[in-house]
Amino acid sequence: DVVEPKSSNKSASLTSQQVVDITRQHNYGTWRFQKGWNPMHIADAEGCTIVDGAGKRYLDFSSQLMCSNLGHKNQAVIDAIARQAQELSYAMPGYATTARAELSQLLLEVLPKGISKFFFTTSGTEANEAAFKIARMYTGKTKIIARYRSYHGSTAGSIAATGDPRRWAMEPGGKGPGVLFAPEVHCYKCPIKHTYPGCGIACADYIEHMIRNESDVAAVLVEPIVGTNGVIVPPEEYMPKLRRICDEYGVLLIADEVMTGWGRTGEWFAMNHWGVVPDILVTAKGITSAYVPLGLCATSEKIADFFQDHYFAHGHTYEAHPLTLAPAVATIREMQRLGLVERARERAPYVEGKLKELKAKHPSIGDVRGKGLFWAVDLVKDRTTKEPFNTYSDKVSGKPLLVDQIAAKILADGVTIQAWVSHFVVAPPLIVTKEQIDLGISVLDKHLVIADAALSA
Ligand code: PMP
Repeated sequence: DVVEPKSSNKSASLTSQQVVDITRQHNYGTWRFQKGWNPMHIADAEGCTIVDGAGKRYLDFSSQLMCSNLGHKNQAVIDAIARQAQELSYAMPGYATTARAELSQLLLEVLPKGISKFFFTTSGTEANEAAFKIARMYTGKTKIIARYRSYHGSTAGSIAATGDPRRWAMEPGGKGPGVLFAPEVHCYKCPIKHTYPGCGIACADYIEHMIRNESDVAAVLVEPIVGTNGVIVPPEEYMPKLRRICDEYGVLLIADEVMTGWGRTGEWFAMNHWGVVPDILVTAKGITSAYVPLGLCATSEKIADFFQDHYFAHGHTYEAHPLTLAPAVATIREMQRLGLVERARERAPYVEGKLKELKAKHPSIGDVRGKGLFWAVDLVKDRTTKEPFNTYSDKVSGKPLLVDQIAAKILADGVTIQAWVSHFVVAPPLIVTKEQIDLGISVLDKHLVIADAALSA
């Protein structure tokens, strides 16, 4: 008996308003109070442009969640998804697949040398969870030193290692075992009140002090350039120094490159800026330019060797899912073909120059910082005290944020930009043109007068 589907193309019959209403009514809006959630209906997207349900076009100035690095509707990636779906849509993780082998080979070309064993997940969060378990199994130790002003994911282990107030909802009951926090590395607002370079990178010394005074430390976990919490670039000496400290004490170094990987900062991986190879590299987002959900936990050969005769106690049903791996191969090949890592590096001085002009013009900008096509515009009430307009406590307590008010005006002028607490993230797709950079920055420029006016209020 053939059972006819009730409706073959139900979504086409929904109006844009219905799409928004149903979404809002029956889905959770994340990291927010549900009241007041009015999601925009994205109906289409191409290149650096997204299109809403009414047909209005917007420049995607933060690559959605800093993940649509290739831009939307890349035909090679679309074809790879379709081909893989025709060929083999699922195989359980114990099997070898062509997509898995091809991606593994390609990863060896682009990852830092010596990182050669892979565990594929479907998110950055899961890739971090895998990293923590692997670090604990390998070292036989439990504690992980993470840092404040960090984000590593939303599930039990990864939120416990997250150094911002999103963790608070988990505490005390949900607090993960064995996570210690070191101060963030933030020269613009040093939490331990030092000044670079006179400080001698005291924030790295602090981690050494922690390791010496704690037993049982398995790993130090860092975002090479802090993402969500403000695009914070460490000083040049920090990462090499941290590598030396980890080596001296036999502690693993985990680099969470979920946001910073895949050309975003003008290198394939941000750790390359300092020539530092981590023991475990975690990534997601740009690995498929977010066409499909894929995360990766990649380890050194030393760790891989250990598991030759130690039980690897980890796995997922959707691990190494062929439909996620084939588009990653296409994404990486497209990045190579189009020279997008080089392009991000070449465009960086242009973006930096433009943002510095904005800073000279708007007293509400305290700092602009970044690398490649990954920049923060950090707003402050007062350039001397560096006090932000809003804090994380405002966000988690549901207070309206000034950056959200400004982002709404920017949106009305046809640009989407990530606003987070008291800064904006300028991170367009790596295919962005100079004209698009000019457009995004000019719209930001126009509406920063709102922040300037709030200064004198
Ligand atoms: N780590 C970092 C540095 C991230 O930026 C993110 C996501 N923004 C995650 C981990 C979590 O990744 P996902 O949202 O794919 O679970």
